Amino acid sequence: MAVGYDIKENLAGDQENYFEDFFLHRHPSGVAAYEHMATAVVHKLAKVFSEQSAPYEGQKTEALQAQIKQLAIFSYEGESLEKVLDAIEGSVLTQNVNISHERAAAHLHCPPLLPALAGEMILSAFNQSMDSWDQSPAATFLEMEMINWLTAKFGFSNQGDGSFTSGGTQSNYMGLLLARDAFCHTYWGRDVQKEGLPEGASRMRILCSEESHFTVKQAAAQLGLGEDAVVSIPTDEHHRLSLEGLNVTIKELADKQLLPFALVGTCGTTDFGSIDPLPELAETAKTNGLWFHVDAAYGGALMLSHHWSHKLAGIEQADSLAVDFHKMFFQPISCGAFLVKDRASFRYIQHHAAYLNPEDDEEDGAVHLVNKSIQTSRRFDALKLFLSLRTIGTKRFGHMIDHTLQLAGYAAEYADRFRSLTVLTREPALSTVILRYTQPMLNASEHNQINRSIQKRLFHGGEAVIAKTTVDGANFLKLTLLNPAASRRDIEEILHMITRYGDEAYQKWREHPCQT
Ligand SMILES: *Cc1c(COP(=O)(O)O)cnc(C)c1O
Repeated sequence: MAVGYDIKENLAGDQENYFEDFFLHRHPSGVAAYEHMATAVVHKLAKVFSEQSAPYEGQKTEALQAQIKQLAIFSYEGESLEKVLDAIEGSVLTQNVNISHERAAAHLHCPPLLPALAGEMILSAFNQSMDSWDQSPAATFLEMEMINWLTAKFGFSNQGDGSFTSGGTQSNYMGLLLARDAFCHTYWGRDVQKEGLPEGASRMRILCSEESHFTVKQAAAQLGLGEDAVVSIPTDEHHRLSLEGLNVTIKELADKQLLPFALVGTCGTTDFGSIDPLPELAETAKTNGLWFHVDAAYGGALMLSHHWSHKLAGIEQADSLAVDFHKMFFQPISCGAFLVKDRASFRYIQHHAAYLNPEDDEEDGAVHLVNKSIQTSRRFDALKLFLSLRTIGTKRFGHMIDHTLQLAGYAAEYADRFRSLTVLTREPALSTVILRYTQPMLNASEHNQINRSIQKRLFHGGEAVIAKTTVDGANFLKLTLLNPAASRRDIEEILHMITRYGDEAYQKWREHPCQT
């Protein structure tokens, strides 16, 4: 492949109408152009990733924005991909958080597996759209097989079903949408899709723990029930939904003639990774006629764990389930799934469009996955998970997941040795660790300031990318350990740097108490 290949060299005659070099078609120049461009990208990425030694090497906000502002200038004639890649190397490519770096440990934002990156190349090249069979013949059937594998792994019967989604936000929305419509149908005989919400809908309530993901409230708002329809149940000392609190709440709602219809259990909260008592929640849901939705966006990955899959007990009783693969399954965004116990639940979201999924089409075995999704055009994200599982095998995949949990346990234990660190997650439920720098002399707001400054300094100094969060009004630091390639050594270094920067800030405060 000639480097510096210029598309104009290939032009014959009519320049404006020469498009072959821009599409992947069987025409030799299209295939050659694809190989050439893909190779150029691979070379550029290999260079950038091999040269980047810190998790963040970019500038601060204003300087970065000013630099990026120069880029969106489009010439009339265009330029070679190499030139554009060179132009963005210093501004865009090297000013990212390198999420695959061992000291990038902030959010539920994972390093992507290489076989999954191969999957991205394949699925974007074919550009299958998962809405109708004729746009994704093999892909439709492969996604269905992946869904079958997932429902079986989570312990659903063969009535189970599902579809890939953009992530937990969409999956939680879908779970509550089906729950809402099923309830309105059985309670009022109302077809919400056709007739809209019934008058009594303002009495409908969703139950979840106060530490459940904000997207439960967001979904309630978007579903026309309003955020106030979400009743938050207190959590216990392990940050899990309190069963006592749940029973009290259910009684209170009944006294007020309100109508709880859905119970959301979280399997892996974003901060503490806590897992609600799923078997008991399932039982309570059954007794009270509630739809049981489990948000396992984070914790669902334990299904492959060799040591901790038992933590998922009870998940098989969910009416619906959200699981993200772009978190602890190490897939590039976006990749998630929404699963249901009973495939008949999808009837509430079916629409038949004459051009896409006419009813008579399904008679000859064509399957239109649009019937199980709230998206129309949809990516073949299932391919990434498929390639990852086939390539890595479930044994090593399970070890990767277990390693991240072990690292979190080690981080908590190691941090506990520092007198200046207060650790809230002595025994992490999943792979997050919450801690803060503390000194007996500092007051609440000084503690907050010092901890915020530690997080910022680590980020801009390129030492580590970690997160901050708030627990009971106080600022804490959070490590989310999602990198199977990280070692105990990396954890030790991060913790030493936290204490070093904390000590330096504390020293400054002691010299000038008012200026911290
Ligand atoms: C990440 C997360 C979500 C949101 O999922 P997206 O994939 O970001 O849309 C919902 N619930 C939990 C518990 C999560 O961790």
